[in-house]
Amino acid sequence: MSEKSSKGVKLQKELTYKKKSCFAVADAEETKKIFAFAKGYMAFLDAAKTEREACDCAVELARKAGFSEYRFGDKLRAGDRKYFVNRGKSVVVFRVGTKNIEEDGFRLIASHIDAPRIDIKQNPLYEEGGMAFLKTHYYGGIKKYQWTAIPLALHGVVVRKDGTKVQIRVGEEKDDPVFYINDLLPHLGGDQMAGKAGKIIEGEQLNVVVGGLPYADEDVSDPIKLTVLDLLHKKYGICEEDFLSAELSAVPAYPARDVGFDRALIGAYGHDDRVCAYPALTAVLENETEHTVLAMLVDKEEIGSEGTTGIQCKVYEDLMEEISVALGANFRKVRANSKCLSSDVTAAYDPNFAGVYEKMNSAILSHGTCMSKFTGARGKSGSNDANAEFVGEVRKMFAEGGVVWQTAELGKVDVGGGGTVAKFVAQLNIDTVDLGVPVISMHAPWELISKADLYSNYRAFLAFMK
Ligand code: MN
Ligand code: MN
Repeated sequence: MSEKSSKGVKLQKELTYKKKSCFAVADAEETKKIFAFAKGYMAFLDAAKTEREACDCAVELARKAGFSEYRFGDKLRAGDRKYFVNRGKSVVVFRVGTKNIEEDGFRLIASHIDAPRIDIKQNPLYEEGGMAFLKTHYYGGIKKYQWTAIPLALHGVVVRKDGTKVQIRVGEEKDDPVFYINDLLPHLGGDQMAGKAGKIIEGEQLNVVVGGLPYADEDVSDPIKLTVLDLLHKKYGICEEDFLSAELSAVPAYPARDVGFDRALIGAYGHDDRVCAYPALTAVLENETEHTVLAMLVDKEEIGSEGTTGIQCKVYEDLMEEISVALGANFRKVRANSKCLSSDVTAAYDPNFAGVYEKMNSAILSHGTCMSKFTGARGKSGSNDANAEFVGEVRKMFAEGGVVWQTAELGKVDVGGGGTVAKFVAQLNIDTVDLGVPVISMHAPWELISKADLYSNYRAFLAFMK
């Protein structure tokens, strides 16, 4: 190499930006940590397939880490470690820091613990063609055809007539039965396959098979349905009318599994958004900091963050105000100085579908957790477009924390888009930016992520809390 060209190579190295693979830059010790962290995450995934279960798991982990329950009006002081449960479906874990809260604000990490799934209707049970079925109404943005012909588990709660509640979880243990949504055989599927993919399975065809054994009494009108009701009554003490006040969901019965010969990836149901919620939770539970930090695990993101458990509910603002007041601080000052990572997944670049991505601004698998300065669609509509100043501040934190990370948009301009909880936090006058793990096959019954990106996300939260 001539002296002239080596000067150019040096300059190029200094001036140009290039994404890095977390695996490529990790030393042996870091690689060990990446794989070890994934184990805890995969156990969490298998235990927490619904928001209620994720909330319960988070509380259990919080208690084990020495956190105790907080209720509005409780006293607080520096060093306190608390969790706040909202209706059993969302949870905020927090540490009270030593810094002046009015000057320092909160460090918030907001993620969600609901995931797309197939919800059971309120009057669901019928029999036809030798099978008993439950009628459903899907939850979140799904490709309906993906949910047929796979094993499904049933999770949720039933509130009985007398107000007592029973928990249901069938299809996760080895000896459990599972459930099923029928698809059409290819032999008779000519017309179906010629149709649009969004219509080849319609919403009203997502009926879940739950039985096939007739009750032994020839005078009974719907004997298979009666067998199912009889079993439910014996096991859970419920009758058909109790479905009226039930929240039952069919979710994939598969456990999380390592993917690839090298086990670099994880396939699982519900990476979106537990792949952010779990590291947010563990970052706050396991690490001391001078700041007052909150990990918010909220519900209903997949249907617009609505309702009493979605992030648009005032309960989260109330909680922040209660904490401020308990520490003798002015809430308006506190929130003005707060910072938030809105932590939700993004689309990973998929070479099999390269046409929908603009590669320079796409998230590459294993190249770290991904910041999206803005989300939205059609000219950034509906997006929290973070300030360059705040992005710069977070970038500095990540550099100091040695975080390997990247930036991306969700697909090519005008191809599609998406949004998450960021804009609702920003409305509180809190600087907010999106940061989350790239996912392949997002919203499919089984999604794919990289262990390196999961760990990078955790490292990013540590840097943000420091
Ligand atoms: Mn999400
Ligand atoms: Mn989603």
